[in-house]
Amino acid sequence: MMMSIKNILILIIVLSIAATSYGQKTDYEIERNTMVENDIKARGIKNEKVLEAMRSVPRHLFVPKRYRKLAYADRPLPIGHSQTISQPYIVALMTALVNPKEDTRVLEIGTGSGYQAAVLAEICDTVYSIEIIPDLGKSARKRLHSNGYDNVKVKIGDGYQGWPKYAPFDAIIVTAAPHNVPKPLKEQLAEGGRMIIPVGSDMNQELYLIKKKDGEITEQDVIPVRFVPMINEEGGRH
Ligand code: SAH
Repeated sequence: MMMSIKNILILIIVLSIAATSYGQKTDYEIERNTMVENDIKARGIKNEKVLEAMRSVPRHLFVPKRYRKLAYADRPLPIGHSQTISQPYIVALMTALVNPKEDTRVLEIGTGSGYQAAVLAEICDTVYSIEIIPDLGKSARKRLHSNGYDNVKVKIGDGYQGWPKYAPFDAIIVTAAPHNVPKPLKEQLAEGGRMIIPVGSDMNQELYLIKKKDGEITEQDVIPVRFVPMINEEGGRH
């Protein structure tokens, strides 16, 4: 069968487009890699597992459509119900500070968009996450599962109480700020475990790294931060 000149030209064009797009990164991947280099690695986060997880999770799918253009900027963004998805650097810092491994049993308080849970799910076999606002919890659960993060269990409820059924946890990441470190969370921390938690008033909070060693709790002040308050089921503040 003879091909006309026109068909040959079309074939050449199609093949060259296919060849250039093969192996080419999408714009989001490029933005994501730039974010990891400039906002995370350059600011001192060295944990390779964390950097790789941050390079993998499609953050633009965890923010409302109208904010997609800003998904890879190093800033928090609104996710509805007066809540926010945390700034990428803070997500990376908190994740690195609990130093998760494949077999780390990890609990997150404040599922929000599900982004932090997805970052953990890239590293850990199973992630437990609790969200108090039912709408947010349900949509995060759907979002996580539709993006392949089947290893995240989301519960709707008050994270102040922890999740006794799956305790103790080797790592606990809290992404809403209570006035004091919740006692149930200290109790549900495994021996040798680490918890990272913002503590303080609405305006003035410190990020604490809490460790349990030989049954003893130690607290270390990391940096000042600004998270949304941890609330109870009546909408009051913890
Ligand atoms: N980790 C989230 C950021 C969440 S912002 C992300 O990656 O997108 C903090 C979240 O904590 C909000 O969704 C808020 O509703 C939730 N929250 C506040 N108090 C809570 C509580 N007592 N238990 C569980 N979740 C809580």
